[in-house]
Amino acid sequence: MKLSFLGAAEMVTGSCYLCEVGDAKLLVDFGMFQGGSEAEDLNFRDFSFNPADIDYLLLTHAHIDHSGRIPQLVRRGFKGRIITTEATKDLCSIMLPDSGFIQETETEWINRKRIRAGKPLVEPLYTSMDAQDALKFFEGISYNQIFNINNDITIRFRDAGHILGSSILEMWVREQNKEFKVVFSGDLGSKNSPLLNHPTLIDEADFVVMESTYGNRLHPASENKALKLLDIILETVNKKGNVVIPSFAVERTQEILFELNTLKEAKTSKLKDIPVFVDSPLAINATKIFEKNSGYLNEDTINLIKSGDNPFEFPNLIFTKTSDESKAINFEELSCIIISASGMCDAGRIKHHLKHNLWRKESSVVFVGYQAKETLGRRIIEGAKTVKLFGEEINIQSSIHSIQGFSGHADQEGLLDWIEGFKKKPAKIFLTHGEDEAITELSRLITEKFDIPNEIPRMGQTIELTPNKQSNVIKERTFASTTAVQGNIENLKKDFEDIIEKLQNAVSAGEQAKTDELYYLVDELKHSVNKIKKQIN
Ligand SMILES: [Zn+2]
Repeated sequence: MKLSFLGAAEMVTGSCYLCEVGDAKLLVDFGMFQGGSEAEDLNFRDFSFNPADIDYLLLTHAHIDHSGRIPQLVRRGFKGRIITTEATKDLCSIMLPDSGFIQETETEWINRKRIRAGKPLVEPLYTSMDAQDALKFFEGISYNQIFNINNDITIRFRDAGHILGSSILEMWVREQNKEFKVVFSGDLGSKNSPLLNHPTLIDEADFVVMESTYGNRLHPASENKALKLLDIILETVNKKGNVVIPSFAVERTQEILFELNTLKEAKTSKLKDIPVFVDSPLAINATKIFEKNSGYLNEDTINLIKSGDNPFEFPNLIFTKTSDESKAINFEELSCIIISASGMCDAGRIKHHLKHNLWRKESSVVFVGYQAKETLGRRIIEGAKTVKLFGEEINIQSSIHSIQGFSGHADQEGLLDWIEGFKKKPAKIFLTHGEDEAITELSRLITEKFDIPNEIPRMGQTIELTPNKQSNVIKERTFASTTAVQGNIENLKKDFEDIIEKLQNAVSAGEQAKTDELYYLVDELKHSVNKIKKQIN
């Protein structure tokens, strides 16, 4: 197998790997390069392959630095299949058109300047319509489902615990009668997530391609995030101010809602009557996708929802869709909590809320995510006295807080724990998706702690993967396939029991069972049986 590193090599964004096995060509992720004009220019360069030759794109998760160039790939002639989890497919259905819209808006702004300078106009990387077209190529599968790409390649997605639907990708490859296994870590989650599972530990692999974002950092000891948030809210409300929380639309907003739901439900809660606004169209749509895909959340959250408590729904929670509704928040007389995007304050509705609250002594701004260099959020957190918003100089008088411990990424300890989880150590680890210091520190620790050969591939480098001895993974794949089928048969058994119970309840209540509902249930069963058939084939 030829493995080419086409993105996130010696850097954090633009994730993309090309795998060539016999005649088959597969991409793993096709992310956008982000963070400064030098990186962003990479988005516009020619591809090193013909998009029409790619048979499959396997997508680990919906973040734009992993999925963001898929519409461009389709626009340039990709005709293959995009396989990912159902939840990632759903998240991409809002995130990619949103990204297309941002591309269009930024290009319009650039072109206005170019017209004034007498320069030729430029095209956006892709449009919202291109993103809509690309969505037609997506097919969702479940975690742990064995999926045969062809006779020689089989894949399976495992829960990475990073964002909803995020995956670690296992790939079994047969070449010249030898079978071996490559694992792509995708982005690995932190164990602090209140909503998601811990990253799945993988039993074995011959080769691992691994992220190293936090290879040189430990998350600060987890403070009690909820209590700190509660203190800030109560203090601010006492002063009759507002609490403004800049937050990423996907995952972080839902985590904050989860924490607020818990705080509001406490028996003696003083938060009950305080209105909470989610003011970001993307965050509102993302929250709906979390509700729809609640099966991807951790067991505690699933049980909470089953018990009738939806953490994304509570009294006085208001989702503001239109910009008029958004503006109306600024005229609220009572203190309120405003969650809005973008998380780093550089765009979106959050800028309006900062304009209306940063100058007020009684208000608070609470940061719950990383603020990159040169962003407005970073300047505020670093103690700027004034900032410019919509051409107006704003004097910062509000309290500024930062709550640590919300992170979507495993830290150094989490990354090392994940490697330790391999029962049979990989023959080699390729380190990607990290800044210089992070990646070299992780490389050093892997050698020191596990004595596993590891390498930091260069951008554009192609490496030939060949197992040096007959691998054992074929047994694992057969076993995995059997357990996945068993799991689905178990689920099917439960579905049958549900139908029987519903029928019995209807009979004992003397009701005529509703025909429509029964038809629907039988259809669902047929769908599940077909899924099992596909797994066996
Ligand atoms: Zn990510």
